[in-house]
Amino acid sequence: MSNKYDVIVIGSGPAGYVAAIRAAQLGMNVACIEKWKDKAGKGVNGGTCLNVGCIPSKALLDSSYKYHEAHSNFKNHGISTGKVEIDVPAMIARKDKIVKQMAGGVSGLFKANKVTSLFGTGKLLANRKVQYVNLEGKEEVLEADNVILASGSIPIAIPVAPIDNDVIVDSTGALEFTEVPNRVGVIGAGVIGLELGSVWTRLGSKVVLLEAMETFLAIMDQQIAKEANKIYKKQGLDIRLGCRVTGSKVEVTKKGKEVVVTYTDKEGKEATETFDKLIVCVGRRPFTDGLLAEDSGVKLDERGSIYVNDLCSTSAPGVWAVGDVVRGPMLAHKGSEEGVMVAERIAGQKTVMNYDIVPNVIYTHPEIAAVGRTEEQIKADGEPYNVGTFPFLAIGRAVAADESDGMVKMIAHAETDRILGCHIVGPSAPDLVQQVAIAMEFGSSAEDIGMTVFGHPTYSEAVKEAALAVNGHAIHMPNKKRRK
Ligand code: FAD
Ligand code: AMP
Repeated sequence: MSNKYDVIVIGSGPAGYVAAIRAAQLGMNVACIEKWKDKAGKGVNGGTCLNVGCIPSKALLDSSYKYHEAHSNFKNHGISTGKVEIDVPAMIARKDKIVKQMAGGVSGLFKANKVTSLFGTGKLLANRKVQYVNLEGKEEVLEADNVILASGSIPIAIPVAPIDNDVIVDSTGALEFTEVPNRVGVIGAGVIGLELGSVWTRLGSKVVLLEAMETFLAIMDQQIAKEANKIYKKQGLDIRLGCRVTGSKVEVTKKGKEVVVTYTDKEGKEATETFDKLIVCVGRRPFTDGLLAEDSGVKLDERGSIYVNDLCSTSAPGVWAVGDVVRGPMLAHKGSEEGVMVAERIAGQKTVMNYDIVPNVIYTHPEIAAVGRTEEQIKADGEPYNVGTFPFLAIGRAVAADESDGMVKMIAHAETDRILGCHIVGPSAPDLVQQVAIAMEFGSSAEDIGMTVFGHPTYSEAVKEAALAVNGHAIHMPNKKRRK
């Protein structure tokens, strides 16, 4: 095996593996180093996303939703079943099978594109040299013209609730429960906390989410966040805002192990809650442990992310960084697009990435999805805008499917009508928002969407109607104001 490559990628999550494949497609000799091991101790590609993130969480969200439908909603359609039961180990085994299949898919793509897949740890040395220690501990030094760092992120740990992987778990442990706990506490009502809280609520746990901030989903458009909060409450999710966890204690009682959580509530009063499982979901941090030699030349920013410019170049020549380990939202697709951009830049192309149009999804039911700026951001930017909203309650397909909770909100520039943002809580929100993302990439106005013929009956008609509503032209709803 030669130790000289055109490109070495460290990390095979969605940022790294996509960069590696694109670079190989462009004719480069590429190696990708990955240190992740599966439950059997074998090297595995795919990173957080495929192994303990996007894919396994969605597998459990889908299984738990099917259970919930059969258990609670089939009767609305006139369908009766016998007793609907849940086999948690079978559900987890199905999730594991999907993870294996998808992670194996990455290795298959590496093979097909002639990317050299190396399992073990990579460390960037000076002058684009990389120390590679394989899973057996054998060390060698590799060289490359370009190195792409894609080492991702890990869950943030907090001293007030130390992970014991038994009673107190992080997002990874919450994908491995062997039975449905009676009471689940979640610290942090952010994206991951809401998704994991939803899984166990649907399976019958009593879930309480303790969130330090007083604003629910502060990064989302607040009209949509408020609508979502109302829907979640109806579903039985107990979301307590302004509640900061200050301590936790695992106790062994007659019932088994449980954890007593102490927190200060909105009024500043101390309170406690007892849970069978506690999931800590207080965010993720960029992961650079052991990645950089002192003389690598790569700098970190004040948040511990690898410092990069808009093109993902680091402070060391020929060294790039992509994905969760650099600034910006910690989203798989954001990292993948950065990976493509960097591979194409290395190949001499002039690719840039549009950071203004990165969709963002929360996979609760119904899902929340957004693209572009929120109304709060546009207001703060001082731009004149018009808003159109449309409820799924007025969409025939949504009513027929019993999926009429939620709404579409479209925001367009008041003078140019160019779409500035779209925020949805409702059925198929991620796919609907993606339609708007494409329109935005082409510089669409709200009127352009309003003039497009949409199939009937579809959920997407809510997007058309919200676009029409921007200028007071909605058909299936009285318009507050007719502008043209
Ligand atoms: P990672 O996927 O973290 O991959 C980095 C890889 O680098 C890892 O495999 C790691 O082992 C490896 N590595 C690190 N250091 C070294 C080293 N020195 N040598 C060798 N290898 C190294 N995002 C979405 O967009 N949609 C979702 O629905 C979604 N759901 C999520 C659900 C959960 C429960 C979690 C935890 C995350 C979710 N995310 C989701 C976030 C998403 O998983 C991340 O944004 C994404 O995985 C980041 O990709 P990455 O390639 O930058 O890093
Ligand atoms: P996210 O970054 O979307 O994963 O969300 C993590 C959430 O955890 C944030 O909304 C934080 O406010 C919240 N959080 C962090 N620490 C605590 C704590 N000690 N108690 C309650 N919530 C917390």
